Amino acid sequence: MMSKLRFDGRVVVVTGAGAGLGRVYALLFASKGAKVVVNDLGSSRHGDGASRVADTVVTEIKSQGGQAVANYDNVLDGDKIIKTAIDSFGRIDVLVNNAGILRDKSFARMSDADWDIIQNVHVKGAMRTTKAAWPYFKQQKYGKIIFTSSNSGLYGNFGQANYSSAKMALVGLANTLAIEGQSSGINTNVIVPTAGSRLTEDIVPPDFFQQLKPELIAPVVVWLCHENCTENGSIIESALGWAGKCHLIRSNGCILRKSINDSVTPEDVRDNWDKVTDMSNAKHCDSIAEATGELMNVVEQLSSRKADDSSSSSLFNPKYTMKYSYNIKDVILYALGVGATTKNPSDFQYLYENHENFSAVPSYFVIFGPLGALCSDMFSTALPNAENVNLAGVLHGEQYLKVLKKIPTEANVETRFRIQETLDKEKMAVMLIEHETYDVDSGDKLSVGQMVGVIKGAGGFGGPRNSKYEIPLVDAPKRKPDASVTQQTCVDQAAIYRLGSDDMNPLHIDESIAAMGGFEKPILHGLCSLGFATRHVLRMFADNDTELFDSVKARFVKPVIPGQTLRTDMWRDCKRIYFQTTVVENNSPVIAGAYIDLKDVKLGTQNSKL
Ligand code: NAD
Repeated sequence: MMSKLRFDGRVVVVTGAGAGLGRVYALLFASKGAKVVVNDLGSSRHGDGASRVADTVVTEIKSQGGQAVANYDNVLDGDKIIKTAIDSFGRIDVLVNNAGILRDKSFARMSDADWDIIQNVHVKGAMRTTKAAWPYFKQQKYGKIIFTSSNSGLYGNFGQANYSSAKMALVGLANTLAIEGQSSGINTNVIVPTAGSRLTEDIVPPDFFQQLKPELIAPVVVWLCHENCTENGSIIESALGWAGKCHLIRSNGCILRKSINDSVTPEDVRDNWDKVTDMSNAKHCDSIAEATGELMNVVEQLSSRKADDSSSSSLFNPKYTMKYSYNIKDVILYALGVGATTKNPSDFQYLYENHENFSAVPSYFVIFGPLGALCSDMFSTALPNAENVNLAGVLHGEQYLKVLKKIPTEANVETRFRIQETLDKEKMAVMLIEHETYDVDSGDKLSVGQMVGVIKGAGGFGGPRNSKYEIPLVDAPKRKPDASVTQQTCVDQAAIYRLGSDDMNPLHIDESIAAMGGFEKPILHGLCSLGFATRHVLRMFADNDTELFDSVKARFVKPVIPGQTLRTDMWRDCKRIYFQTTVVENNSPVIAGAYIDLKDVKLGTQNSKL
């Protein structure tokens, strides 16, 4: 069984901990070994007056064998609250900004005083207290911060203009501190609670009020503040023993002007309004860089648009998105396609749905590179001289994949493609195609990748030779490999891989098509060999823990004929494993310049000597 979460040696400050949610947070932290500063001004629900309610909570904690001190300062004097932690316990590790009051009035009747006191207690108070704790967090390279927002902020609520704006300000504050603190080990998150307290007693019906126990929310806050929790920059809503994550999402939108030289008229906006507000392909951006970076697509699309092309388009051209559903059987078939076998006990986790670690081979999502690119007219529209080019001769030159969330073993996903740049390498054109895959149901981005397509005979169009989007390959070290795995492919390997990957290109099964491509026999998919190598690397350096897989980059240099034997040579450099795959029968490298980045290295029994 997993160990209990403890806070021994940690010092926790909870503001507004004399009552309601804060009191329950303080009690739970203390019961888990934390030393707690119980701050509370002891004001009324509207922010008037003061009392020593913090003392009762400190007494309660002490009576249960915990450690706590009271602080009666206003959160606007946050430095005094943090000083209490330092003076009493010598450090601070966790700050829960929880203190709050209400001054509800309709907007028409709201005075400046009603506005200011709410902004001061919620926003300025939380900022002041956090500002005082920040240098300690930075210095010790560790800190956990919680801000308390509200559904009133996220969704709006009648009579709470002052409160809802303050609660949303805290979301913005948390968003930025999550970024500024990340490199110093400081995690900042937002809790959106709904609990029975004096703030809600006359708002929610009595029966429901009884059920909204603060005790059902406190464990969520406590987990967010534990050293094992890596969550950062998230908004977590919780009530009634339920918790979920909230996101801002942006619609795919619509380009409102016809070309780069046109302006936008209000009529253009009116005529495209349905597309601007169509949320069916909405997505969350993880960063400002991602949000603004995608806008560069607008410039690219406008620049390439012909003057008479009046069609509107979105950030992601819907033509270049692909919906795909897969289930457990597909995942198992993919694993068989990349050489997983019941002969090898460590492959069971890829082949048996009841295995305790059942998981997809993490290279699975590379399949979307060729799937989307070849199913659309992306090549022909982006190639300046497409009419003179045999698109049947498009080769898969390189592949990159980064997995952002553990790949589900069944899901409905959507992959969005974008041509980043088309390069002119004289004899050939090289197309850099980015692909991002989302879980349609959760909206989570699961992976990002890049397929490099090589189109022989399509160069010489005067385009750039290099691109900032190219993901460099790296040569393997010159020394002897640190590990090698040799495995024979079977004669039906390509036939199986076609089914697991849905890459039905006849080049891989039909002799006559293979002959037209200049091959003696149907060849194995390059991505199939990549799947073999991924399994080999995970076996030798991750003890088959698929969650340790971060990313892979590889170049396909020569074809493999099904039935040939693959040897994956591996060199370790910290968490990067360089690898090269060679056909043993002719000693010919087939994957080169390749590496897999792991989140951590775990040497299993098979490789404990490395
Ligand atoms: P509560 O009134 O029971 O507790 C808030 C505590 O904060 C009180 O003990 C109060 O004395 C203290 N406080 C007020 N102003 C202070 C100041 N300037 N300095 C120090 N302490 C001060 O309320 P609660 O429901 O437990 O709310 C806790 C937090 O959760 C608040 O920020 C509130 O806005 C937020 N929230 C609560 C709900 C809910 O359903 N209860 C919903 C959304 C958000």
